[in-house]
Amino acid sequence: MGNIKDYKIATLGSHTALQILKGAKDEGFETICICEKGKGKPYQSYEVADQIIMVDSFKDYFTIEDQLIKQNAIIVPHGSFVAYIGPSKMMEVKAMHYGTKAILEWESDRMKERQWLLSANIKLPKVFKTPEEIDCPVIVKFHGAHGGKGYFIANSAKEFYERYEVYKGKEGHDKYAIQEYVVGVPVYTHYFYSPLTGELEVMGFDKRYESNADSIGRIAAKDQVDVDIRTTYTITGNVPLVVRESLLPEIFEMGQRVVEASKKLVKGGLFGPFCLEGIIDPELNYSVFEISARIVAGTNPYINGSPYTWLKYNEPMSTGRRLARDIKMAIEQDRLSEVLG
Ligand code: ADP
Repeated sequence: MGNIKDYKIATLGSHTALQILKGAKDEGFETICICEKGKGKPYQSYEVADQIIMVDSFKDYFTIEDQLIKQNAIIVPHGSFVAYIGPSKMMEVKAMHYGTKAILEWESDRMKERQWLLSANIKLPKVFKTPEEIDCPVIVKFHGAHGGKGYFIANSAKEFYERYEVYKGKEGHDKYAIQEYVVGVPVYTHYFYSPLTGELEVMGFDKRYESNADSIGRIAAKDQVDVDIRTTYTITGNVPLVVRESLLPEIFEMGQRVVEASKKLVKGGLFGPFCLEGIIDPELNYSVFEISARIVAGTNPYINGSPYTWLKYNEPMSTGRRLARDIKMAIEQDRLSEVLG
């Protein structure tokens, strides 16, 4: 039987590192946090890291990777990890890595992502190939935009061209996707699928707190028009959420279908934490505009567990801790290779 004392859990100091490291410690692991200079304070103050490795930039990850390999560290990837390493370089990561790297390619390419979700029978917003086809409110998303910055709304081809004028010729704004703007409330579902137990779990939900989308309603409609505010969706935080209980059966099934479909795309399929990000409309249809094939920051309000994990575990169970428990179980059952990818 493997011993967890022979391994460490490591991640980059950003995004969801606090809960990943805390969860790992709660499960009995030693932890390593890779921090950018000047940004280590939270990881020291909350005492979640047994060891801190300083780098000038997360982009320097490959210069310290040897230190991780020597210590038998298992990397837990999160949004910042993928963003800094870059989806194309993920395959070059040599340290042990929790999760299937190859699935990230399906997540980071909008066309492939759509193909995956459609094959899982998930409802998606309509997409328009050209502005001329626009026949309903649309949201225009620039490729590589982070945190919804610069997305804009249009109702027609004419409006599209008027609004696009501002971005024309600007770097990173030549490629965009035009998506039906679904009117409803945003709901982000946090899942966990363990390849060891074969069980899909719903860990919780969140909604995003976005500037200035979430502040526009604080001023009168007339002022919104007068000061000519453009809606932006820069993420600043996450708000916990529970959903109508009657939605849960379909939400479980959606997650299950996404996992099953992923097994046909890449060896090992999708496992560990993932998130379906979408809008629930007044008819209670859940349209998904994005999947994150890894832990999302929306799980951060639940370091002490969510209402859903409380039902299942009767002990504090964050997504970070659930993940560490998967690794622990894999080590103790000599099945570590099944959770690495
Ligand atoms: P990013 O991936 O850049 O963070 P998202 O794709 O998550 O951006 O979109 C940012 C925000 O825009 C979301 O929080 C959501 O509120 C809104 N949004 C995105 N797509 C749609 C859509 N098809 N219909 C309605 N709102 C959407």
